[in-house]
Amino acid sequence: MPFLTEMNRLNSEVFDYIIVGGGSAGCVLASRLTENSSCSVLLIESGDESRHPLIRVPTGVGVVWKKKLFDWKLKSTKAPSLNNREIELMRGKLLGGSSAINAMSHVRGAPADYDGWQNAGCDGWSYGDVAPYFKKTESWNGKKNTLRGVDGPLAVSPAASSDLLFDAWMAAAKSSGHATIDDYNALAEGRLLEGFAPSQQTIDTGFRATSWSAYLAKNIHRPNLHVLKNTHVTKIRFDENRARGLEIALGANRRKLLINIDGAIILSAGAFHTPHLLMHSGVGPEGVLKSAGVPLVLKAENIGRNYRDHLAVQINFGRRNKGPFHEEMRLDRVALNFPLAALFGKGPMTQLPGGMHGFVRLDKSKDAPDLQFLFRGAPKYAAPWWPIFSKGYEDGFGIRPVLLHPKSHGHIEVINADPFEAPKIDGQYLSKNEDIEKLLDGINIAMEMADDPAMRNFKDNKVNSVPLDRIGRINWIRQTAVTAHHPCGTCQMGSDEAAPVTSELRLKGFDNVFVVDASVFPRTISGNINACVYMVAEKASDFLKGLHNSDQKN
Ligand SMILES: Cc1cc2nc3c(=O)[nH]c(=O)nc-3n(C[C@H](O)[C@H](O)[C@H](O)COP(=O)(O)OP(=O)(O)OC[C@H]3O[C@@H](n4cnc5c(N)ncnc54)[C@H](O)[C@@H]3O)c2cc1C
Repeated sequence: MPFLTEMNRLNSEVFDYIIVGGGSAGCVLASRLTENSSCSVLLIESGDESRHPLIRVPTGVGVVWKKKLFDWKLKSTKAPSLNNREIELMRGKLLGGSSAINAMSHVRGAPADYDGWQNAGCDGWSYGDVAPYFKKTESWNGKKNTLRGVDGPLAVSPAASSDLLFDAWMAAAKSSGHATIDDYNALAEGRLLEGFAPSQQTIDTGFRATSWSAYLAKNIHRPNLHVLKNTHVTKIRFDENRARGLEIALGANRRKLLINIDGAIILSAGAFHTPHLLMHSGVGPEGVLKSAGVPLVLKAENIGRNYRDHLAVQINFGRRNKGPFHEEMRLDRVALNFPLAALFGKGPMTQLPGGMHGFVRLDKSKDAPDLQFLFRGAPKYAAPWWPIFSKGYEDGFGIRPVLLHPKSHGHIEVINADPFEAPKIDGQYLSKNEDIEKLLDGINIAMEMADDPAMRNFKDNKVNSVPLDRIGRINWIRQTAVTAHHPCGTCQMGSDEAAPVTSELRLKGFDNVFVVDASVFPRTISGNINACVYMVAEKASDFLKGLHNSDQKN
């Protein structure tokens, strides 16, 4: 059954699982759960299906971000520790969710991250437990290794762009004393994630791979799968310890409907919207609900707390001679190469002008890196240019030190009873001095590498915008830091009282409510988090399939 259009079927059909949110996690779940033909699933997504070429073509991402296409357009509150700035918090609003608008980097994180989850009370989430699920997601197109998956739904490819600047950057890493690594996702248990490496990207035969394209689009005709798009879930109705109904708003005119919940409901609306929906439904911190005017159903003080994100600064440099990406941005070439990429997945527009990661441990007593370095071989303002009128934009490159394990944690809150109102997102970003100190170290490392003799032929002599003195740099960090768009932790799993979700991802206090998305991370990981969300959803599918099978037997 493809997209559900006959609304009268909504209440005559019995669904074993209703999934809220068709993003990274939601599409994995819907695909895996419907492998069992006796299990029926309804997936509800606020956004639409999109085959937009700017989504399909990897380099289209620049325009998607600039114009905020398919985005929820969320912002943080004014952050005193960021010189009172609001920062943008992009989130995908379409089938595929944020995997359809992200930067496509595929990073599992450090083995120690997951051993840390296990030690923090998340039973069954050690690296040994989760590594098979990372493998299960992947179809790795790079050098074979027994630790990598080759027949999973999600294509992962080594970065394909080439530029002598990238070789110089790797040489600079080496001469600055950093290790270089071949495959940062092929780490056996107990191994450290440390060093610089070419990036791995969720690109499939030249096209962006999203959770929708990789997992669900090809299975849309399964009779037990139902997808309701352009539909916003506004409230969950609870009766004692079960969720019994779902209030939804359909389409642009927001037609209201109520769906019965016969089986279980899985919340996969992402780290901002999952806690927000729960609070709207009366589950959350008592004081927050009271001031928003939402009647309390269950007091759960830690829903929306423990919000973690990766903050980063962007250091830009000018480039001496124009690089290959600059040439490709000539308008006549774009006019030829964009359709080539959109239609056939071929040509330079299928390759991102960057594609390198570095992982650095500042504290050698810890077994996970403190900083990640993202390298971009083009300036942020790169845009098509036409030779008759101009020589094009000034070429450049950028280095982004990312703080991987911030000590500053924020929170998400509901502000009133209107389900279409955006949540209040207070990140408390960089409010702890320790976080600023680590970013200062990151800037030092990046500047040192940019000054390395290997970079001499590439970096121009223009004065960089990063101040030289400590006080100036601290202010520059506060003035320019942005998110790397990795929010998580807002409905954390765990075995202690404080965690609102169990290690089997059930919302405490209810028998049939599960949370499966980035909200459940107990703490963040050492790298971009999308691969981890896929892993969580793959592992959750196994729990949930097991529940369904035992229900069938009873
Ligand atoms: C700009 C950007 C760049 C990024 N770059 C990278 C990267 O390079 N590598 C990486 O690993 N990670 C990256 N990420 C992060 C990564 O993509 C996300 O962490 C991941 O996709 C989150 O998955 P999720 O399932 O938790 O949420 P999402 O994928 O965001 O899915 C949530 C879904 O729920 C829907 N929804 C929300 N509320 C409702 C409701 N009430 N009713 C119905 N539907 C609802 C949303 O529309 C959305 O489709 C990036 C993210 C962004 C935004």
